[in-house]
Amino acid sequence: MNEFKLIEHFFIRNMPATLPLGVVGIGDDAALLPISDSHALAISTDSLLQDTHFYADIPAHALGHKALAVNLSDLAAMGATPKFFTLALHLPAVNEDWLNEFQQGLFACAKKYQIALVGGDTCRSHQGLGINITVIGEVNRQKALLRSRAMVGDLIYVSGHLGESALGLLAVQKKIPFNETWLKAHYYPQPQVELGKALIGVANAAIDISDGLLADLGHMVKASGTGARIDYRCLPLARNAMARNAEDLSQADAISLALTGGEDYQLCFTVPIAGQSAMLSLAEHYSVIKIGEVIEGDQIVFEPLLPNAVDLTSGFRHFE
Ligand code: ADP
Ligand code: MG
Repeated sequence: MNEFKLIEHFFIRNMPATLPLGVVGIGDDAALLPISDSHALAISTDSLLQDTHFYADIPAHALGHKALAVNLSDLAAMGATPKFFTLALHLPAVNEDWLNEFQQGLFACAKKYQIALVGGDTCRSHQGLGINITVIGEVNRQKALLRSRAMVGDLIYVSGHLGESALGLLAVQKKIPFNETWLKAHYYPQPQVELGKALIGVANAAIDISDGLLADLGHMVKASGTGARIDYRCLPLARNAMARNAEDLSQADAISLALTGGEDYQLCFTVPIAGQSAMLSLAEHYSVIKIGEVIEGDQIVFEPLLPNAVDLTSGFRHFE
């Protein structure tokens, strides 16, 4: 049973009461809780666990940044403005140097995205290090970017360069040589908060790419009851990928990683034809690129077809 089936089977279908009108509950990047006629709080939580999400030797500064950044990415996907966060720390031991570095990374990120720590929990863990952060943002209720609002005919865009974080992980695992761009993408993801806010009133639907473009686009089109047609030639591949020795990383590998590599924390969003001129001006300020179109149906199709060498079951295969 995968995590989505588990949530459906044990939680969604057993909920004792329906949610009040206007509340957006389970299923989007953040929940939306109305606080006035016009605005809602956007709330999301994400954990980073040792050996599941990071190795014990991750630099503490990077972990502080990343724990907050991955949460901010969910607010970005709703077009919400970050306001407050809480921090639950599960620590195997108290190491003051480590904590000092961790707080520096955490608060540098908090300062950049203007979000304030308002509470949390601290306890000893006998099972490695764990961090859980809950973020709270604010967004216009009517204009919040939902996964479920993609319309047939919308054009599909993504931000950034995809697959870089997955390559950074391979570098951490010493499966490929050190590469600063990719390591930075892996340790210091930059949540697209400003882009998300700018997409309010321009995009119909959005999702952040935490599990890989194909999986997350799949969630968005499923929630919207649509399909998608993607032109793989338009995918923004990892920077420097092509400059490397062809034996290390072929174009097919770069495409696989762009489609299946996790943890890029970029946005995938859909824009109606009427929003294309606004999109053109946004494209002057943000790294965004059109990759396809929302279509009828429930499939993601590639046109032209993906080259045979692109392996979607394992973008990493060539490095193992
Ligand atoms: P994301 O990758 O955007 O953080 P997830 O894939 O973790 O989202 O979760 C998908 C949806 O399921 C989200 O709306 C999330 O809030 C919800 N969810 C995840 N785990 C649980 C749970 N244990 N109970 C209720 N809702 C959950
Ligand atoms: Mg998300």
